[in-house]
Amino acid sequence: MTPTTYQNFIDNAFVPSEALIEVYNPADAQLLGRVPESPAEHVERAIAAARTAQKGWAAKTASERAGYLRQIANKVRANADRLARIITLEGGKVPSLAQVEVNFTADYLDYMAEWARRLEGEVLTSDRANEHIFLMRKPLGVVAGILPWNFPFFLIARKMAPALLTGNTIVIKPSEETPINCYAFAQLVAETDLPAGVFNVVGGKGASVGHGLSSHASIDLVSFTGSVGTGARIMAAAAPNITKLNLELGGKAPAIVLADADLDLAVKAIVASRVINTGQVCNCAERVYVARQVADAFVDKVAQAMAATRYGDPSRQADLDMGPLINQAGLDKVAQMVRTAVGQGAQLVTGGQVADLGAGFHYQPTVLAGCAAGMEIMRKEIFGPVLPIQVVDDLDEAIALANDSEYGLTSSLYTRDLNAALKACREIDFGETYINRENFEAMQGFHAGARKSGIGGADGKHGLYEYTRTQVVYIQG
Ligand code: NAD
Repeated sequence: MTPTTYQNFIDNAFVPSEALIEVYNPADAQLLGRVPESPAEHVERAIAAARTAQKGWAAKTASERAGYLRQIANKVRANADRLARIITLEGGKVPSLAQVEVNFTADYLDYMAEWARRLEGEVLTSDRANEHIFLMRKPLGVVAGILPWNFPFFLIARKMAPALLTGNTIVIKPSEETPINCYAFAQLVAETDLPAGVFNVVGGKGASVGHGLSSHASIDLVSFTGSVGTGARIMAAAAPNITKLNLELGGKAPAIVLADADLDLAVKAIVASRVINTGQVCNCAERVYVARQVADAFVDKVAQAMAATRYGDPSRQADLDMGPLINQAGLDKVAQMVRTAVGQGAQLVTGGQVADLGAGFHYQPTVLAGCAAGMEIMRKEIFGPVLPIQVVDDLDEAIALANDSEYGLTSSLYTRDLNAALKACREIDFGETYINRENFEAMQGFHAGARKSGIGGADGKHGLYEYTRTQVVYIQG
């Protein structure tokens, strides 16, 4: 890819920025392009454009708004290969997964468009004679969408589609690690008939542009996906304006494997979940609690499967299971966490080293057995291809350990016992629970986390209504 300088997308125009951020391929450190480190004036212009456009946008029928989402979905499909290539180059994602991300994004835009004729208010019974009470749903106004780098393209749609369908306008800030796909998306939006100002992109760093958006008095909702620390900073920035927040934060997903589980199925699902996107997924198995009776067999099988993982540079090789980590900081963090775990008594079964492939941020697929509840590796988000395993005596112990976490996004259980599965569903305190499988979540579900994993959620009917507020109208006849 020839390095290109990208421009912000504000009010249907591409606007250059003097200050730029360089974007590199994490697999080989090659320069891919330059994107704006937006001046404050661009943030102001984008919010003002979104504000001006919002009234007219909300005045359109939901079916009309859905039509624009479908146009964009078609553009995404028509450009799928090019978009997937960008995702691979800037994020280190293997080509097959990048394709899945692009296709899912187009489907998601279509899915949200389908809600146009399903948006509902309510008619409530009154305590007064001849009175009608209507509960109406209205758009919030202008949404700021602040994105992470791990599923950067899909996250544009996850925020934009429900926002636009319900009559909001949006300003998106992509991650500074993976912004190019968002500018490519903006170029496709510019080719559609979407009215000016409805969708805007301003690039830049979190402390400048992200903070500028989340602290702005004219933003009605900050829809953020990223780490817990940033979520807390956004809450603080939004507090003076009492701005509504939707926070999709980190995870430390427990996978529980009971003695009666289909062990091969559990191994396959958990390993795939740890390897996908090089372990950099918020809702993938980050810690395993395995029943003592099957622990040795499970560890052996997991170690074999992890060791067989094909990894390398996905921009040069298609048939890989995983690519590099996103950056040097991510690699250093994973390496440090493994060293600390071993120092605290975990047994290294396979992997455990930075993989020297000449360039890039590669880490060996790693299995750590003999982990214990207090270890950092069982408590902190790793975000890398490392699977720590702890032995448990029964389901009660596993559920107690799983719940003893500041995170509460995703959990999974492997068993053939219906009662055990139902008990886990009742007692495990997580936003998502998978029985006999791992990720991904369905677009018609509701992706939400307990505890520090977030506030609110995304997808489906409940995710859609996060982008609305209610107004109750009393009509006395
Ligand atoms: P991050 O928090 O470092 O950055 C996310 C975004 O926030 C970036 O665009 C960044 O520029 C911006 N940002 C940083 N500081 C800011 C500030 N002070 N004000 C406003 N914006 C700011 O997260 P990341 O490293 O990009 O993503 C990885 C994290 O995201 C992981 O913790 C992962 O679990 C989480 N994640 C969660 C979900 C979910 O659905 N719950 C999905 C994907 C990723």
